[in-house]
Amino acid sequence: MQWLDGHCDVLSKMWKDPVKHKFYDPQSKLDSSYFNLREATVALQVFAVWVPETVAKAQRLQVALKQIDLFYEEIIQDEQNVILIADRKRLRECSPERIGALLLLEGADALQGELANLRLLWRLGIRQMGLTWNYANEVADGIEEERGGGLTRFGRQVIEEMKRLRMILDVSHLSVKGFWEVIGEEELPILASHSNCRAICPHKRNLEDDQIRALIERDGRIGVTFVPSFVHVSYPDASISHVLKHIDHLCGLGGEDYIFFGSDFDGISYKIKHLESYRYIHYLTEALLKAFPESSVKKWSWENGYRFYEKQLSL
Ligand SMILES: [Zn+2]
Repeated sequence: MQWLDGHCDVLSKMWKDPVKHKFYDPQSKLDSSYFNLREATVALQVFAVWVPETVAKAQRLQVALKQIDLFYEEIIQDEQNVILIADRKRLRECSPERIGALLLLEGADALQGELANLRLLWRLGIRQMGLTWNYANEVADGIEEERGGGLTRFGRQVIEEMKRLRMILDVSHLSVKGFWEVIGEEELPILASHSNCRAICPHKRNLEDDQIRALIERDGRIGVTFVPSFVHVSYPDASISHVLKHIDHLCGLGGEDYIFFGSDFDGISYKIKHLESYRYIHYLTEALLKAFPESSVKKWSWENGYRFYEKQLSL
């Protein structure tokens, strides 16, 4: 079974410690190392560029650029093993033998309030952006920001520019108000790269049923994530069977054709047992195939995510 993973944090880990985190090292400490992705037959991996809030505002673009440089130098290299996915034509070339890699900016903090930086990051290969991480920035409030504000004036300009560029909007981490403000933007491709269901696990980072229905209605996607605290209320007990509960719930809301996976590997230190990296993905595959028809499982592991990017990336 072929996989598409909508969210990993390899790049911020590599930026923090490039010596320890080598993508092509067979002994790599990365969850989503080349060998782990290969073994699991992941054919498309979305790589997040994430700048921690501890980085001073004036340095945020610099840190994002550093991570993009690592992406090209340490992962893409000569495209023998991993290819850059920046358009639809390239997307059709990815396979478990030559893994596709798509760049996501997780949080518009790196724009430092300049639309020009959005355009430049697009030219460097960024095709998807989450407006915020957990807190407020120049664009909008994140989900952990207590005042729960929506988009700023600059945020609305960013949205207009994203539409023009046809950059995909990732609503994971965004405040509820921000979510409802962007969901009405018809021309904007939208997904949640790594969020589960609040009805199953009442964590702020998870989506309410009406948000899930709205994403489905506009042909968005919901990336079921393996973050233990988003999977089960008592996170040390989170298991693969709890992940299945989220999938079951999404199906109940009419989401069968809109589910994919966004592991958040390398962004989490605590892991679900037997779901520590893609190396162990067969445990999830077995559990899914026991509970659901194979045709559905294939939709979630690959087809739904692929169909989204095929539709939304420009030629
Ligand atoms: Zn995240």
